[in-house]
Amino acid sequence: MICPEPSALQELVRELHRQARPWLPAGSGSRLHWGPPVHGAPGEQEPLVLSTGRLNRLVEHCSGDFTVTVQAGLPLKQLQAELAAAGQWLAIDWPWGSGPIGEESGTVGGLIARGLAGGLRQRYLGVRDQLIGLELLRADGTRARAGGKVVKNVAGYDLMRLFTGSWGSLGLITELTLRTYPLPRHRGGLLLRGPLPALETLRRQCLAAPLMPQRLDWWSEALCGGEHPGLLLALASVSRAAIEDQLQQHRQAAEALGLQVESLDPDQLLAQEAQARRGQADWLLQLGVLPAQATSLLADPAFAGVHSCLAAGAGVGLAWAAATQLPSHRVQTLRRRCKALGGTLSVLQQPPSASLAAWDDSPARPVIEAVKREFDPLQQLARGRLPGVNQAGVSA
Ligand SMILES: Cc1cc2nc3c(=O)[nH]c(=O)nc-3n(C[C@H](O)[C@H](O)[C@H](O)COP(=O)(O)OP(=O)(O)OC[C@H]3O[C@@H](n4cnc5c(N)ncnc54)[C@H](O)[C@@H]3O)c2cc1C
Repeated sequence: MICPEPSALQELVRELHRQARPWLPAGSGSRLHWGPPVHGAPGEQEPLVLSTGRLNRLVEHCSGDFTVTVQAGLPLKQLQAELAAAGQWLAIDWPWGSGPIGEESGTVGGLIARGLAGGLRQRYLGVRDQLIGLELLRADGTRARAGGKVVKNVAGYDLMRLFTGSWGSLGLITELTLRTYPLPRHRGGLLLRGPLPALETLRRQCLAAPLMPQRLDWWSEALCGGEHPGLLLALASVSRAAIEDQLQQHRQAAEALGLQVESLDPDQLLAQEAQARRGQADWLLQLGVLPAQATSLLADPAFAGVHSCLAAGAGVGLAWAAATQLPSHRVQTLRRRCKALGGTLSVLQQPPSASLAAWDDSPARPVIEAVKREFDPLQQLARGRLPGVNQAGVSA
């Protein structure tokens, strides 16, 4: 991995283009191995990895406008600490595997390039919705900008959405402007456990309640550590009374449905959970189904023993398991189930003994490939890894 000075970056990318050399954009390199393998130049096993580690400045925090502009290599943990000092935050979960206080959360550029979000998307939407401006280097070294630095002046092509989840395949993100939010003053939560039909009824009630949950996550039976799956509800507000009132109503509704109810601090529970599962998964799956179908997935026998956390309003999230708990053929069954339930399953990480395609072909494959040719005509970037294109050619 090379980590060039910001002043040398553009010329280096131009030179790589002149040589038609394959390379992989990177942040801190914490999760580069997830997804399909990336090929290097002929005769080289590994691609050249170009890190934004030295592009690590917070450029501008416009606290009055609730926006922040950062260089792509700024660590997320550092950004959150700086925003917190001004009473604000980026409303984004710590990425999976970060540890309880975000020790290994990687860079802001890496976060956007992967495009994954956790349960906070219920209230604040996904990471692509938080991104309002972007600067990048194209494969030939041309610098390009899209969006702006204020929430309302987006004009031209929406490269922000294109680059969110691009996995380094379209260009090197160098700078980002994101929305910030005031740190919520009061928070509270419940863990609700019991039979799926009752939980589903409660899920619908929570989503229709006057105070929109900050998060409402499905926890699989294995993650709850008992005989039932659960719903983790978190509320945030400027008013403690509003939270108490809503929690009381949800508690009563849950008890009437015969659910077990536990009051808790959701942040503390998530931190404990992150600590327990740190670095402990052979399988890491990104999955999604239509939100109303999540209970069918949770009840599926192929899902037994799998740890999973899904945003209940969106039906998307992560699942993980040890190789001994989850043979490959069950992952294939789960992939078929997700498809049948209106969604997808991507394999981010798998045991060395397994060789599943990371993702199936998307119906938009021809468009994705056309965009790739436009941005990277020499196929230099993340060669072998293009989201939505099954380059392994192996059927899932
Ligand atoms: C709740 C949640 C769960 C998540 N779970 C996962 C998960 O399970 N697996 C996962 O991989 N990620 C996950 N993420 C995304 C995670 O935030 C990123 O993978 C992480 O930030 C990587 O940081 P890094 O700097 O180490 O990036 P790297 O590991 O260095 O790179 C990660 C990816 O981003 C690309 N990339 C990095 N920087 C740039 C850049 N400047 N320009 C273009 N492309 C770039 C790389 O090519 C690579 O594909 C999750 C995020 C959230 C919010």
